[in-house]
Amino acid sequence: MDSVKDLITPAPILLQPPQAKIAACLRQHGPLSRTDIADITGYSRSTITTVVNELTDAGILEEIGDGESSGGRRPRVVSFRPDFGYIIAVDMGATGLDLAIADFNAAMLERVSLPIDVRDGAAPILGLIHRLAIDLLEHNGIPPEKIYAFGIGVPGPVDFAAGILNSPPIMPGWDAYPIRAFFRTAFPNAVVIVDNDVNMMALGELAAGSGRRHENFIFVKVGTGIGCGIVARGEIYRGSTGSAGDIGHICADKNGPMCHCGNIGCLEAIAAGPAIAHRAAEAALAGRSQILKKYYEQCGGQLTAVEVGRAAAEGDKVANEIVRDSGYIIGEVLAGLVNFFNPSLILIGGGVSHIGLLFLSSIRSGILTRSLPLSTRHLRIDTSVLAQDAGLIGATALALTNVFSEER
Ligand SMILES: [Zn+2]
Repeated sequence: MDSVKDLITPAPILLQPPQAKIAACLRQHGPLSRTDIADITGYSRSTITTVVNELTDAGILEEIGDGESSGGRRPRVVSFRPDFGYIIAVDMGATGLDLAIADFNAAMLERVSLPIDVRDGAAPILGLIHRLAIDLLEHNGIPPEKIYAFGIGVPGPVDFAAGILNSPPIMPGWDAYPIRAFFRTAFPNAVVIVDNDVNMMALGELAAGSGRRHENFIFVKVGTGIGCGIVARGEIYRGSTGSAGDIGHICADKNGPMCHCGNIGCLEAIAAGPAIAHRAAEAALAGRSQILKKYYEQCGGQLTAVEVGRAAAEGDKVANEIVRDSGYIIGEVLAGLVNFFNPSLILIGGGVSHIGLLFLSSIRSGILTRSLPLSTRHLRIDTSVLAQDAGLIGATALALTNVFSEER
């Protein structure tokens, strides 16, 4: 077997089959003893010793601490070296951006958040991400050549294989923009992975959140829009053209308002953040709620779902009704997904998910009222515990699984 001395080649880094298999095994299971690696991969002890030595010599792996012992001496465990390379993770929403640097063990070193308007277009926003990333790298003393993977979640349908957005409704100027090429220029050794933002969040929950113990679950993001990431048999399900999970445009009311997609009564036109804010502003202006009127004036007429949640928590009747209606109608649409897909977990995330417990309990009641009893017998419905980090953790996890590829 050849050594792996030429590892620092353009991404992804090529490994021979046993090296790639052992790296993938450690990526999936975390630090393992050589005995565990043998049990999982089926390789002989001598192959494992050879391969682990090669990967250690290349600076990819290291032996650390003590593993679990089943009696007798505790075995040493093999792990990725955190400083072998670094990852940039980006979670881009319609109105905000999170960016983080993580080490090779997926530990987040530093993160930043800032508001954006995705309608400003691809070149300005990607330029901004590039500058932020360079600042963070300088701050952490990491050269751009040490970035081996770049994972970015974007708020629109993605052609995953090509790494491009596919006619995104809320992102004018982004259609087919070469995001991958843009970042490959800036980070020459990085493999660039583009996926839908909600898929990244679902992957984050699968890697490090409540999704770890679930093979089949749905992550629902409620923010400016509504979308979901589908995990089936432990993997993201993207569908035939990458638009699986785009539930925001399911018709929830044939007599509802016009959606930006051109159809009538889409779920997100009725129940997403802007719809909640719009209903609250109407109530404030019509004098139907003094509390909403107070918030409306405080924020200069720019109410968001956050203020509506606050007013609901203060006991405002109208705000409570708006939050309850929105949650319930989301729950009714999710009930259709539950009947169809039979998940064991539904996680609610995104900015609107934090506006109060009433929102979650209304979603629950919408789901439970409209689902078949058998499909909800073991169903858990909860808010995302990773909250604003879900997308970054998922982007890091997905990027890291793509750093190595197997030599044929
Ligand atoms: Zn629509």
